[in-house]
Amino acid sequence: MSNENKSIHEFDFDLICEYFSTVERQGPGSPEVTLKALSFIDNLNSDSRIADIGCGTGGQTMVLAKHAPGQITGIDLFLLFIDLFNLDAKRFNLQDRVKGIVGSMDQLPFGNEELDLIWSEGAIYNIGFERGLNEWRKFLKTGGYIAVSEVSWFTDERPAEIEAFWQDAYQGIDTIPNKVMQMQNAGYIPVATFILPENCWTEHFYAPQVVAQENFLEKHAGNIQAEEFIANQRYETNLYHKYKEFYGYVFYIGKKI
Ligand code: SAH
Repeated sequence: MSNENKSIHEFDFDLICEYFSTVERQGPGSPEVTLKALSFIDNLNSDSRIADIGCGTGGQTMVLAKHAPGQITGIDLFLLFIDLFNLDAKRFNLQDRVKGIVGSMDQLPFGNEELDLIWSEGAIYNIGFERGLNEWRKFLKTGGYIAVSEVSWFTDERPAEIEAFWQDAYQGIDTIPNKVMQMQNAGYIPVATFILPENCWTEHFYAPQVVAQENFLEKHAGNIQAEEFIANQRYETNLYHKYKEFYGYVFYIGKKI
C-alpha cells in the first residue's frame, strides 16, 4: 500500500518545523520576486512600520530589509523559526530595525492603522486568503499596502488528481480573477498581480529540500512518521512537476482605500 497521499494535516507540527528549519525558505519564492513585489510599494520611509506575517526563518524578510527603509516585525507561530530569524537579523547587522517575534496571525499584536505595509509570503493560507485580507486591513493606515503570495489555480478546470490534492491541503485555493475580486471586496485597490516564475519552486524551494530530506531521514532513521512525511514531500514535488501548468504561486499587491 502506498502512503504517498497521506494528508499533510496528519503530521506532527514539531516534525514539520524541524524539517523546514533546515532550509532557507519554507515556501516558494525568491529574492528577485520579493524585490519585484516591493517595486509596487511607493510609500516607505525610515519611519515606516512593516509586518512580515508568517515570516518563517526570514529568508524573504532579510531581502525586504536590505531594500526597504523602516522598522520590520516578523511574526511566526514557531519559536524555532523566530530564533533563526533573529540570528540572521544579527548576522546581517539589521537587528536594530528587524525583529522576529512569536505570535499568531489570527491575533496580531498591532494597533489600528499602525502599519504602512503588511507582507506575507506563502503563509496567509493558514488563516485563509479572504479572512486574512479582511482581518488584517484594520492594522494598515489608509494608503498602506498589503503584499501576499498565495497558491492559485491558473485555469478554470483541473485534472482530478491535483484538484483532490489541493482541496485536501487548502480549500481556499481559487483562480486569480476570484482572488483579485476577494482583494477588492476586502477594501483594497488591486495594484498588481503576478505569477511567480517556476524557479521559485524548483531552484529555491524544492532543490534545497533534496539534501534536507536525506539528512532528515538519516537523523530519524527507523521513524515511520518521519519517513512518511518525507514521502509526502516528495509526492508533492512530483505533483508540481506533473501539473505546474494548472497552479502556482501568485503575488497579490493591494492598497488600502
Ligand atoms: N514566509 C516564509 C514562510 C512560509 S511557510 C517563506 O516564504 O519562506 C508558512 C509559515 O507560516 C510557517 O513559517 C509557519 O510556521 C507560519 N504559520 C503557520 N500558522 C501560523 C499562524 N497562525 N500565525 C503565524 N504564523 C503561522
